[in-house]
Parts: sequence; structure tokens; C-alpha cells
Amino acid sequence: YDDQFDAIVVGAGLAGSAAALTMASRGLEVLIVERGSSPGAKNVFGGVLYTPTIRELTEFDDAPLERYVAERRFSMLSRDDETAVSLRPGEWHREPHNDSYTVLRGEFDEWFAEQAVEAGATLVTETTVTGLVRERGRIVGVETDRPDGTIRAPYVVLAEGGNSLVSEGANLKPTESRENVAVAVKEVLEFPDREGVIEDRFRLVDDAGVSYHYFGEGAVGDAFGGGFIYTNEETVSVGVAYRIEDAVAADQSPEETLNAFKTHPAVAPLVRDARTVEYSAKTIPEGGAESVPDLVHDGGVIVGDAAGLVLNNGVHLEGTNMAVESGYHAARAIARAADRGRTDAAALRAYPEALEQSFVVQNLERYAWLMDAVEADRDLLFEELPRAFADAGTEYFRMDRQPKEVHADDAKDVVLDALGGWTGAAKLALRYRKVV
Ligand code: FAD
Repeated sequence: YDDQFDAIVVGAGLAGSAAALTMASRGLEVLIVERGSSPGAKNVFGGVLYTPTIRELTEFDDAPLERYVAERRFSMLSRDDETAVSLRPGEWHREPHNDSYTVLRGEFDEWFAEQAVEAGATLVTETTVTGLVRERGRIVGVETDRPDGTIRAPYVVLAEGGNSLVSEGANLKPTESRENVAVAVKEVLEFPDREGVIEDRFRLVDDAGVSYHYFGEGAVGDAFGGGFIYTNEETVSVGVAYRIEDAVAADQSPEETLNAFKTHPAVAPLVRDARTVEYSAKTIPEGGAESVPDLVHDGGVIVGDAAGLVLNNGVHLEGTNMAVESGYHAARAIARAADRGRTDAAALRAYPEALEQSFVVQNLERYAWLMDAVEADRDLLFEELPRAFADAGTEYFRMDRQPKEVHADDAKDVVLDALGGWTGAAKLALRYRKVV
């Protein structure tokens, strides 16, 4: 392939295909190198795909989507209680469905990469990039695991996802510290011979679907993280994601944690009689704004999860939109640099500059403080409050021969005890006001 290509994209995930599509549409010769047997074949994902940018870049009506998200639900789970907040706005039932859809990545990534190929990019699969080729510090190509597998091109886009061995191996970013990485395990479940069971259990019609998030010790024990359920067209994705250092310290494996989550009284009825058709595990970079490395180098850029562009703050888990947006801006910067015949980092700076103006960096910076705060309040947020809210609700609605005032006071006392009185409650509200 030597000298045929203007740019090589490492990884045909969301960031890689967005970059390839954007560059190919601007007339660059692009090669996408994907290690899986097809794009998405190796991709693990909850998940909800957020599509505002993809909608702009593609003939979106043809995209293989599962269901639009009609309900978001956040549950606090103690050992055997659930306290939940649920949102089902009428607007989400109407186009463009808040640009939030469940997808199966095996299908979606293949379709998205195909859009890049239709725009002129070349895709090779079953090929792993093993390192970068550099000349006097400048990135000038990639090494692959194929015989004679060196490929040279003026620009390399590193879109290899969170497990970014190529970028780390080339010292373009430090190895993520354990506290910045979550491990996620996920099962796709089907319900044999049970037509309509997803619609019935999740109260859905037509293409509507749900995104359920769970926190608290009933979700992942005392680990820092949570559980999730998403409905696909005919299957349900269920999983847990929590800090890798907690997984290492825990006396149960992530698989056991997922099984325990599935047997919680609030979860078990939703997944009863299901058969596991797919099991997968992956890491999620969670370091936020502070862990984003230098995004441009001479001859190369880093995009998507490889660059740590994931927002996970308990209310939002967004990586897909950031991956696509970063791939798009990186590609535009490369196209402009190519017009000027330049490959140096300074000529590619338009990429991080555009990202800083976009929702990507603004959202990451908005929540940069959050993980440390949650870590400091960990017992309160993951154990004491879920229990206190459930106990308070139980007291509030208690049916006996006492007047309501007694129950309301008991309920208030339970919550205030957990929060450390009104002062504690006010401090907590102030601390987390930006999240809500
Ligand atoms: P990836 O999607 O990981 O793609 C990287 C690609 O590169 C892969 O195809 C891989 O095979 C390929 N590759 C890697 N190394 C090489 C190599 N050396 N050579 C060749 N190819 C290589 N985000 C959301 O927005 N909503 C959600 O609901 C959500 N839920 C999630 C649930 C889980 C369990 C996980 C793990 C993540 C979730 N995310 C979610 C995050 C989201 O999946 C990522 O942010 C997004 O997929 C990042 O896209 P990417 O293109 O950067 O990386």
C-alpha cells in the first residue's frame, strides 16, 4: 500500500469511521485498518448511540438502529430496595428522538465504515496495527501484523479505542492509571419464544426503548460504578461498569457482580427467562478532562476513546458522540493541513482548537472535578443514601394507625441522618449542583 494513501486510520470504530468518511469526502485517499473480522465485530457497548453528528455526516435514514430511547430511568439500589426517577417526555417519541438510539455495534459500525468506503476510503480488516513508523520523530506510517505489513502515509489517525496500545507504545500518551479506568462486562439477552416480552416488561410500543441506569450497593456492591439495562429490538443489553481498582480488590469477579446485579429484586423480573447470546468485557476511560493527552503530533492525531474523550458522571454516559465529533474535527484539520502540504503538529492544531470550542471539551471540563468529589463521598452516595431514600419512602408511605405527620417526620429524619443534618444536605446540594 506504500505511497497510495494520504492518511491511515487505526481502528474502524465510531471515531475512526467518522474521520475516514470526512477525509474521503474531502478527496483524501484514506486507508482504515481494523483488527476485527469486520468493523464492530470486536466492539462492546451498552449502549445508547448519540447521533447529532452522525446524522449530519450520513444518509442517516438507512442506519441500522434498534430502538429510540423513550425512557431514561435512574435507580438507586440498596440490598433489596429500589428508589427511582424516570423520565418519558412526549418529545422523545417524535423525530429526531432526541438523537438517542440503542444500536448493536456489530451492525452499526459495519454500516458506518461502509459510508466511509462509499465516500472513497479503503477498509482492510483482520489486520492489527502493532506500532508506528517514525522518522526523525515524525509519524510516517504504521506497522501491522501482516507479512511486509509496513504502510506509510503522511497522516495517521489513532482511533483504536480505550485500550490504546499503539498510542501508549509510541509514548503519545501515558498508560492510564487504574483509578481512571472502569471495567465493563455486558451480556446481550434474548427471550426465546416470548414474542412481545420486551414491550410488555418495559412498557413499550413500536420502536420505543429504554435506558436504565442503576447505582448503589445493590448494583455493584461497594465498587465505584453502576449497572445498566438497554432494550434493543429483540434483545436486552445488561451490564455493570466499575473502577478497575475495585475489581482487582474485590472478592468477586466482574461476572459474579453482573450475576448478582441480575438477581436484585428490582432487576430480576426484567431479565427473567432470558438466554445469554453474547458476553463481552471492555474498559472505559473515565479520567475526564485531566487525562486527555496531547491530541496532535507531527504526522498524527488521537481521537475518540484513545484520547480519553468519554463523559461518565453518573447521569450522562457519553462516548459515542464525542468519538464521532473528534474524528470529524481531526479529519477536517488534516484536510486543511494537506491542502497546505504540511504534516507538523502546529498545522494540525486546528483539531484541538475546534474540539475546545465544541461540546466535547466543554462537557469534559464542566465535570472535571466530579470523580474526586464522588470518590470522597463514595460511602454516602453508593451505600448510605440509597438505603436512606428507600427507608424514608418506606416510612413516608407506612400504613398503620399513626397520623401522617409522624411518618413524614420519620422519613425526614432518616434522610437527614444520612446527610449529616440540614448543613450536610446544603453542602451536598451545592457540591453536586452542576450535575443536575
Ligand atoms: P471503539 O469504539 O473502541 O473503536 C476502536 C476500534 O479500533 C475497534 O473497532 C477496534 O477493534 C479497533 N482497534 C483497536 N486497536 C487496534 C489496532 N491495534 N489495530 C487495528 N484496529 C484496532 N457511550 C455512549 O455514548 N453511550 C453509551 O450508552 C455507552 N455505553 C457503554 C457501555 C460499555 C459497556 C462500554 C465499554 C462503553 C460505553 N460507551 C457508551 C462508550 C463508547 O462505547 C465509546 O466511547 C465509543 O465506542 C468510542 O469509540 P471509538 O471509535 O473511540 O473506539
